Amino acid sequence: MDFSEAKEEVRKAADIVEIIGQHVQLKKRGQNHVGLCPFHSERSPSFTVNQDKQIYHCFGCGRGGDVFTFWMEYHNLTFPQSLKDLAERYNIDLPRYGDVAAEREKTELKEQLFKINDLAADYFHTTLVKNADGRPGRDYFSRRHISRETISAFRLGYAVNKWDGLVNYLRSKNISLGRGGKAGLLVPKKDGDYYDRFRGRIIFPIFDLNRRVIGFGGRILDDSLPKYINTPETPLYHKGDSLYGLDSAFKDIRERGLAIIVEGYMDMLVLRQQGISNVVATLGTALTSNQVRRLKGYTREVAVLFDPDDAGREAALKSFPLFLNGGISAKVLVLPQGEDPDSFVNRYGSDEFKELLRGETPIFDFYLDQALAHMDAGIDGQIKVLNEVLPIFMDIEQGAIKSLYVHRFSEKTGINEAVVWEELRRREDKRAESRDTSQIKNRLLSGQDPRKYGSDLQFLNLLVYYPETIDTFRDQEWELIISDPEIIKIIRVFMEKRPPGGDLDRIEGFLDSPVAKEQLRPLLMSEPMYTDESVSQAVNEFVQKIASVKRSQSMRKASAEGDIETLNRLIKARHDLDLPSKEN
Ligand SMILES: [Zn+2]
Repeated sequence: MDFSEAKEEVRKAADIVEIIGQHVQLKKRGQNHVGLCPFHSERSPSFTVNQDKQIYHCFGCGRGGDVFTFWMEYHNLTFPQSLKDLAERYNIDLPRYGDVAAEREKTELKEQLFKINDLAADYFHTTLVKNADGRPGRDYFSRRHISRETISAFRLGYAVNKWDGLVNYLRSKNISLGRGGKAGLLVPKKDGDYYDRFRGRIIFPIFDLNRRVIGFGGRILDDSLPKYINTPETPLYHKGDSLYGLDSAFKDIRERGLAIIVEGYMDMLVLRQQGISNVVATLGTALTSNQVRRLKGYTREVAVLFDPDDAGREAALKSFPLFLNGGISAKVLVLPQGEDPDSFVNRYGSDEFKELLRGETPIFDFYLDQALAHMDAGIDGQIKVLNEVLPIFMDIEQGAIKSLYVHRFSEKTGINEAVVWEELRRREDKRAESRDTSQIKNRLLSGQDPRKYGSDLQFLNLLVYYPETIDTFRDQEWELIISDPEIIKIIRVFMEKRPPGGDLDRIEGFLDSPVAKEQLRPLLMSEPMYTDESVSQAVNEFVQKIASVKRSQSMRKASAEGDIETLNRLIKARHDLDLPSKEN
């Protein structure tokens, strides 16, 4: 079997609804499945998967493609790697892959960085568990009640407080220090030499879902700053994309339908050690919308566990719109004053923690409680809170939920509900107005004639749903009635490549232009514009339109050349046909 045959095998075996459905909650709607887009923030689903055509398209952000595109984008992998993953999944043998040089280079660099990360993780881990100079790390973990099992399960490590510990180790393994720098583990000096980035720190390797090391977090042992450092941006590690522990938690998260989110590495480890398996950490930074999107594939419910201090409260407030926009229902676990997850679980045990889980507060209530606790007395205080909360209400798309929140808000703050609604409507009108204005502006600036554009789409829609009409147009100069050059490319591919009887999903592969590719998907997913009864009339109209444009062109040409005879003949022909003369 050659490579493209194998690719076709995989394409046949892999069902796009099944594959995407494992990462995005999909609901059947008409001929499509829809869900919340994993590639951009949205509250109502515009991410659309079509099983017939085996393609997906997001009407919000324009991303889309076939099952391979999804796998590459979602898991941040190259095409060869995605093909390999999917082939393995469906038990399809792959020939050795020989792709273009650049692609291979990228894959090779990533593989090398994975290897270096793996070596470094070994080095840090061995230092921690075996070496004499790992004692500070061992002392730290034993002080924090982290067991040997946990240390080995999460490959925890210790970086000695030296400038060249890892440098020397990588050298002994014949690894180029430049590559160590690319992995973010070493830092280049001015003289071209390198030194260790992680020194005198506890090391937490960060894994991808295939349990390969993509980066590291390092925590200092004492109170000096910075408390945490992470791997900088590398081809493998992107800040704010990953969640610590997701690789070992995602199955439990899906099973329980709940993810517990904590801030710190140590919080997560302590909870895991207590048998609470559906917990992930935000890698010591504030929660990001990308992290929320990652979780969305596994659950729609999260419990956020923030430290009960000012920083934790602030982080919870900031994350509220992220969840709201991400379509995730979020609750906040509030720990008793003075406790963090670590101290709480070590003191009371996991049963108490699970009990706590039952008393979780919806994140909006938590927000309200916090806002009210700091609300100044009197009308000025009310106005301040109202101003703070209105932008959040405006972002709530579902009317019922909005009503609920508005009602709750006015109940708690004592602000008249009618006043809240009035102010809300006023601001929403204002926002809609500015949105409309900017849309009109865009349309004017792009210089697109929507009437012409509409006929482009109608023509293609006709060809998609009534492919038997293609033959009628094949020998006609149909390009004359299409204004968008990208649509012309699509139609050409259609006429040349479309095999009888279907396989629309393969059309995309014949298109070179990425713009055409992106335009194709929504077109393929659009509902049919014609019925069996109206097809022949539509074909006639398009044929006449082509003829009419041709005539106008000939007339222009004839009049430019002073060819009165031809001009007269054309004018007469147009009258005979009684076609509208404003056609051009
Ligand atoms: Zn999208």
